[in-house]
Parts: sequence; C-alpha cells; structure tokens
Amino acid sequence: MLFKKKIQDCVIIGSGPAGYSSAIYAARADMNPILITGFQPGGQLTTTTDVDNYLGFPEGINGNDFMKNCKKQAERFNTKIINQSVNHVILSNKKGGTHRIFLDKKKCIESRGIIVATGSRPKLIGINKEKKFMGLGVSCCATCDGFFHKDKDVAIIGGGDTALEEANYLAKICQKVYLIVRKNYFKASKILQYHIYKKNNINILFCSNVTEIIGDSFLEGIKIFNKKKGTTQTVFISGLFIAVGHIPNTEIFQNELELDKRGYIIVKKGKTMTSKPGVFAAGDVQDPDYRQAITSAGTGCMAALDLEKYLSLYE
Ligand SMILES: Cc1cc2nc3c(=O)[nH]c(=O)nc-3n(C[C@H](O)[C@H](O)[C@H](O)COP(=O)(O)OP(=O)(O)OC[C@H]3O[C@@H](n4cnc5c(N)ncnc54)[C@H](O)[C@@H]3O)c2cc1C
Repeated sequence: MLFKKKIQDCVIIGSGPAGYSSAIYAARADMNPILITGFQPGGQLTTTTDVDNYLGFPEGINGNDFMKNCKKQAERFNTKIINQSVNHVILSNKKGGTHRIFLDKKKCIESRGIIVATGSRPKLIGINKEKKFMGLGVSCCATCDGFFHKDKDVAIIGGGDTALEEANYLAKICQKVYLIVRKNYFKASKILQYHIYKKNNINILFCSNVTEIIGDSFLEGIKIFNKKKGTTQTVFISGLFIAVGHIPNTEIFQNELELDKRGYIIVKKGKTMTSKPGVFAAGDVQDPDYRQAITSAGTGCMAALDLEKYLSLYE
C-alpha cells in the first residue's frame, strides 16, 4: 500500500506572542496547528524580567512566566509543539498548494497553510555584561522599559531614527538622557533631530562609544570613550537603552517570500497575507515600527483568521 503523508492545515513557525496567539485561534477553529518553537522557545520576552505594559496584568508579569502561560494556553487547545528550528522551506506559488517545511535534511512537514512568526532580534554592541544585564538595567526597548526609570538618569546608544525617537520618549519620563552616537552626525531624519536639539535634558555625545558596563548584579553606570578627544568619562545611570537596530529572522525566507530592504516580510496592508498564497506573517517579523508583545499577539490572531478564510476558499 502506498504511504500517503498527511498534509497539515496550519504550521506556525515561532513561539513568541505572535506564534502562540495564532496557535490559540487556529486550534479553536479546528485547524490542528503544529507550532515549531525555534532557537528561542518563548521568543524575545524570555530575555526580560518585568513586562508591565501587556493588557490584563495590573501588577505586571515576568517575561518568562508570561510566555509559559501562553504555551500552556495553546496546549490546552491541543496545539502540537515541536522543539526544533526550521532549516529551510519550499513554498508553493499555487492557490491551495502544499508548502514544505524542513526541520532537517530528512524531516519535512507538508502544509497548505503557514503562519510565519519568527520575530526579530535586537542588534547588540558586543560589550561585556550587555547580555547578562538585559532586563537588569540594559534594554532594547524604551517603550517597554522607559517607565521603570522615571525621574532617573539613563543613556541611549544610536544615531538613527529609532534611537532619536526613543531618546525623545525617554526625555519626557527621565531626568537626564545621555544620547551616545558613534559618528559625528545623526543618521536620523531632520525633523527628529530638530526635536532632540530642542530638549534641554538630552546630553548628546557624538564620536562616542560605550566601553564598559559598571555593576555587579545589575547596571549601575557606564564608561564612555570620546574618540575625538581621546578621553573617557564615567556616568552613573539606572538604564542603558541600545537602539542600534533589529534583524528580522527571515534568513530562511530570503528566496521564498517578498522582503523589504531591511529584510522584513512584506504583508498586504492591514492584513497578514504575504507574497505566497497560504503563507501569512505575524508579529515583529513583518513589523519594523511597533515591535510590541501586544501588537504581535494581535497580528497573530489576524493571521489565524486570515488562514482560516483562505483554507475555506481552497478546500
Ligand atoms: C529585552 C526585551 C524586552 C522587551 N520588553 C517588552 C515589554 O515589556 N513589552 C512589550 O510589549 N514588548 C517587549 N519587548 C518586545 C517583544 O518581546 C516583541 O515585540 C515580541 O516578543 C515579538 O513577538 P513575536 O512573536 O513576533 O517574535 P519573538 O518574540 O521574537 O519570537 C520569535 C520566535 O520565532 C522563533 N524562530 C526564529 N527563527 C526560527 C526558525 N528558523 N524556526 C523556528 N522558529 C524560529 C524563535 O525561536 C522565537 O520563538 C521586549 C523585547 C526585548 C528584546
């Protein structure tokens, strides 16, 4: 008898808020989702301590606990979870066609629907204690963690649009903001620069690098080297924000899906459809702007609903 491989309806790649949110919606709509966790089970929130801005947690919640709850909730509706990474994909161009998802050279899952929720990763500057103190004073997201430093001194690294937007945001909350820029000019737009120069609590340090993070169990300060003057200064701060960019996790989709010039997956405006039929994208992997847990979970829900509609059209 010829062995016929089962073709799935819904494979979700990624286990952050977007992945689990789409799993819950897909499972409850009888799509029997398979979720592949990837190299970072639980996603980026597992690298932080307090999540204070997710709706429904008046006291805030620890990032790891939050993602454990998301997993539990997806399992309650029988989502099948595979603790592996996707190695490569071959996506069909045909409406109703079957896509192939390879976990390694031999193991392949076939599915008519895919939800890509592979997120992004923040670029780091590569100095000692940067990773160790993530969530303990070091952060990659001012919107997420700025409030923890209300009325305190902080520093932000970067000279592009994101760094200046975040510096602006922090200047409203914090007492003093050191804006540390590697070059002797900003890459950011003129309008953002105009707003930065107007703020009197932002101290701009051009031609500067952070060379050391000070503190034993959490961040207490930093050393800043000025390349032009050849001098080093120490500043004591409660928060260090790294805003030198994000890398979307789209390497495996490079020749399969339409990506923008930064590597983010392009989706149909206001929807989650990608350039291939039956393939939907949710969360940070398609969102260079908001990059929040709640927006990721929101688009995860949208992707599951979009996939459900697609499957009903091409049964
Ligand atoms: C330190 C830090 C603190 C933050 N704090 C907050 C906060 O307080 N509030 C807030 O709203 N947001 C916060 N954020 C942002 C938030 O974490 C992200 O917006 C959110 O996690 C994005 O969710 P996502 O599901 O799109 O992707 P991610 O959380 O990035 O998850 C991506 C998933 O894809 C998987 N994956 C990647 N490649 C593959 C592959 N080839 N095969 C299989 N799986 C793969 C990974 O393993 C991971 O599970 C923070 C981010 C950081 C870094």
